[in-house]
Amino acid sequence: MSDLLNTPIEYLKGVGPKRGSVLRSELSIFTFGDLLYYFPFRYIDRSEFQLISQIPSYEGAVQLKGQITSLREVGNGRGKRLEASFRDESGSINLVWFKGIKWIKSKLAPGTNLIVWGKAKLYGATQTISHPELEFISPDKPLEQGLQPVYHSSEKLQSAGFNTRGIERIVKELLPAIKNQVTEDLPPWILGDLALMDKEKALINIHKPPTLNAAKKAQFRLKFQELFYLQLELLIRKQITQRKIKGFQFTQVGAPFTEFYENYIPFELTNAQKRVIKEIRKDLSSGIHMNRLLQGDVGSGKTLVALVVMLIAIGNGYQTCIMAPTAILATQHFISMQEMLAQMDISVELLIGATKKAARKKIHDRLEQGEIDILVGTHALLEDVVVYKNLGLAIIDEQHRFGVAQRSKLWKKNLLPPHQLVMTATPIPRTLALTFYGDLDVSVIDELPPGRKEIQTSHRYESARLKIFQFIEDEIAKGRQIYIVYPLIEESETLDYQNLMAGYEAITRRFPLPKFKVSIVHGKMTPEDKDFEMQRFVSGETQIMVATTVIEVGVNVPNASVMIIESAEKFGLSQLHQLRGRVGRGAEQSYCILMSGYKLGENAKKRLETMCETNDGFKISEVDLRLRGPGDIMGTQQSGILNLKIADLGQDGQIVQVSRQKALELLDKDPQFEEKEHHYLAKKLRMLLQSKPNWSRIS
Ligand code: ADP
Ligand code: MG
Repeated sequence: MSDLLNTPIEYLKGVGPKRGSVLRSELSIFTFGDLLYYFPFRYIDRSEFQLISQIPSYEGAVQLKGQITSLREVGNGRGKRLEASFRDESGSINLVWFKGIKWIKSKLAPGTNLIVWGKAKLYGATQTISHPELEFISPDKPLEQGLQPVYHSSEKLQSAGFNTRGIERIVKELLPAIKNQVTEDLPPWILGDLALMDKEKALINIHKPPTLNAAKKAQFRLKFQELFYLQLELLIRKQITQRKIKGFQFTQVGAPFTEFYENYIPFELTNAQKRVIKEIRKDLSSGIHMNRLLQGDVGSGKTLVALVVMLIAIGNGYQTCIMAPTAILATQHFISMQEMLAQMDISVELLIGATKKAARKKIHDRLEQGEIDILVGTHALLEDVVVYKNLGLAIIDEQHRFGVAQRSKLWKKNLLPPHQLVMTATPIPRTLALTFYGDLDVSVIDELPPGRKEIQTSHRYESARLKIFQFIEDEIAKGRQIYIVYPLIEESETLDYQNLMAGYEAITRRFPLPKFKVSIVHGKMTPEDKDFEMQRFVSGETQIMVATTVIEVGVNVPNASVMIIESAEKFGLSQLHQLRGRVGRGAEQSYCILMSGYKLGENAKKRLETMCETNDGFKISEVDLRLRGPGDIMGTQQSGILNLKIADLGQDGQIVQVSRQKALELLDKDPQFEEKEHHYLAKKLRMLLQSKPNWSRIS
């Protein structure tokens, strides 16, 4: 960066030491350069005002020009608010503030001319905008033409004179000075391929665009640049780790694989399963340590892939293990693997918390002797006493249930770390996978086994309760089983338990013994009781399972055909999708019924609609990302580390893909950054790589 851009912010005309310190503390703007990179988040088009009489009835942002006609404080205590009537030539609207009342009151009076911007909402008969953005205008001074940038501000900034206009003013001081001070850091071929605006022009245009189109092009250029560097960084980190970590080389597919594939595999693999197995095989034969994420929707057949891959490891003389988050799930894996391998000379064992002491000891011993080929289990696999003769491959099912520390324990179970495959049924949107797991290999099973019937999902209110009870009864008469799931949210735990128990009682009253049997499972039960009740349902002894989300993960009861989710509006999208995935596992038509209260927020409505519209986990994860943002999906800490100034992973999936592709092209063209046009880029990249720890590894 040039000296000019490194100049401390207080030296900019119109800032000074006192206001400079506010910019530092509120916005982390320390230098001219930092200010240049403080971008507006939208633009006001000076030519576009709506008339109050024509504000659409749906919620949407509007920009109005008019005058305050009256001002009043209403209510008291926490309900206190400031209301203003605001009118233009067509009608009037309410403006309301719940916070910062004193400050607003000192600025407004009847007769004040304003431009207001915000979302209008209908309360009773009156349209209301709460906490609008305001701009003061005077009728005898003509409005500025063109686009005006809008910057985020805060109360502290505003009292230092930095509302959006204040920020705009100092940016305008800076812009003329940056001519020839900005170094272009993208090579000409990328600028050309994507028709990108050059950097200096983009930095000027983003603050002061002549047209909306110019603003968009400037945004695109700056977003691309941000994401492109991020992708380059991730790809290079990946190269570095791969160079460092050697792995066991599985040179052959081996006899067990062939024997299984030719004689015992229970179904024809789907094309997606075949493709994924091929990808994994390639990793395993390369001599480099595999660290691969396998994504596949619920029911896509990840377990069979896991088994086939384990057979390859065994065929090369290694032991394998698969770790699942619950005893129920581990036991299911164990039983199904044992069945599939019954005719083969492969030894499979199960190790869970409930494994008796003597049996446990025996497993430990045999494992160390190399007599066990596949060890299936829970966290019990992580204990120090679990020692392998030669662990070559560790598989983790439902990886999101395990912490990083737990996963990394498996790595230490051999001198060279065993290859690792982590499986998840929680689809991560491609954008996020590329960004957060950019240094990890990802395989995707994007196809369900044939013959599955699409689960029918509907959204119902309390008024449909009796009909639903009848529906349950009809399904049970057909021999099916039913899940009824209640939310359990920590803040309202007591209330939620009351709801769960009340629901359970209502169900047992409507479906009484001896004809019907109802199971209940929730988090306050001991693990043994939970398992016992779960088993009763799995074995078909009980027809209805009333539960909290403890049943979310992996449980396979193909005979269950109905999933009823109570207070569905309280669940997140990915959780709803996971729960729904508990049904639709057999050949029968399955149903998911989302029960909700009558009053729903926008977001909740969208979630329930999405569930009714699609069964596709990836589509659902994309909507989830748009609704919640990456912070909530990946954990804010991880998102924070990305430190994106302009790109938004929720909105800019397309640009992520383009930037990934260009980064790959660059590394292909000039892997050592030898060409002159890549020198500056390499220098910047080196700084990035040195300044951040390696955070994105799942291990
Ligand atoms: P998940 O990916 O959710 O772990 P599972 O591995 O439990 O899915 O598989 C779900 C069901 O589909 C199981 O009953 C399994 O036996 C069956 N299955 C797996 N692969 C196939 C296939 N290729 N054809 C038919 N059924 C399959
Ligand atoms: Mg599974």
